[in-house]
Amino acid sequence: MEKWIRWLAVAQILSLAMLLGGRSTVLAKPTEKTAFGKTPDGRNIDLYTLTNKNGMQVAITNFGGIVVRIKVADRHGKSEDVVLGYDSLDGYLSDKAYFGAVVGRYGNRIAQGKFALDGATYTLARNNGENSLHGGIKGFNKAVWEAREGSAIDGPSVELTYTSKDGEEGYPGNLSVKVVYTLTDRNELKIDYSATTDKKTVLNLTNHSYFNLNPSGSDILQHMLMIQADKFTPVDAGLIPTGELRSIAGTPFDFRKLTTIGARIEQDDEQLKLGKGYDHNFVLSKKGNGVELAARVVEPTTGRVLEVFTDQPGVQFYSGNFLDGTARGKSGKVYQRRSAFCLETQHFPDSPNHPKFPTTELKPDEKYHSTTIYKFSAK
Ligand code: BGC
Repeated sequence: MEKWIRWLAVAQILSLAMLLGGRSTVLAKPTEKTAFGKTPDGRNIDLYTLTNKNGMQVAITNFGGIVVRIKVADRHGKSEDVVLGYDSLDGYLSDKAYFGAVVGRYGNRIAQGKFALDGATYTLARNNGENSLHGGIKGFNKAVWEAREGSAIDGPSVELTYTSKDGEEGYPGNLSVKVVYTLTDRNELKIDYSATTDKKTVLNLTNHSYFNLNPSGSDILQHMLMIQADKFTPVDAGLIPTGELRSIAGTPFDFRKLTTIGARIEQDDEQLKLGKGYDHNFVLSKKGNGVELAARVVEPTTGRVLEVFTDQPGVQFYSGNFLDGTARGKSGKVYQRRSAFCLETQHFPDSPNHPKFPTTELKPDEKYHSTTIYKFSAK
């Protein structure tokens, strides 16, 4: 009898502990809105922290639609922030690396900042030598977006909207853009982009998160990468595609099987030299038009795995070659060369000047929609 009572007491304590343990995650509000600072012209900027039922956290600001933080567990359950960025808005105001940002109107480069549509030539803001990069001088990454907490059934979400004016940075058409970030209970950061225009324009939206799945380690050269691509688009000295779709077979660009990023990065290869490492668009081997696996990254020390799914035809693999230790990031951390990588899902760079590339044109009677998913796990 006494044994029974003792057993009951233990069972009660255990169930109370489980209840409290469970409650602590339930208690973390799925979406928390906090002040993140003020722009120089006095606009209030907020930070939306999304938490899923596994305790994974993603923080997003309506300045530039920037993903400020992604906290996710390693194989031992240790949660760490796996993206580069800054502690406060000030860092993002002066940032030149596009940490975590929504990139638009046109992600990546447009040669000479020029393209033609229906016989009219458009001249864009040039901010990368003679070329236009990532939307120009004030791209979507520096815009203040309207934000509202979403109600996606998939998990906590935040919905950002922005209207890019006709002529902004040289692009034609008033463009209404919506970006919805959802953190699902499957540990996915899902990004849904949509847009409409009132005049024919070009559009290439992406997210520019810089990942390091072992943030307390040094560079990303020990991360292992797989990209679902048989071809890539080689570039010239200005990192503009030559127009060729080149086979990756027998080159350091063959990532069809998981390969350490650093294994071939210093090889004597013309394309690696031009990019100062990897800074190239890979042509995804897609089965259809839907959202498919594009890339997988495995970090051996922490066991963290990142999988990228998209409906886009390409992905820019950028090995952080231009990070030069000048940006002081979170907790004063100095971001050195190759201390993070980007996998920017996209249409091919300079598509408006390459009629053979998949089109980036958007017409007034069309609705642009695209989805990219960054899924995290550990093994
Ligand atoms: C480009 C790099 C560039 C980086 C930061 C990447 O998308 O491919 O060349 O340095 O963005 O702007």
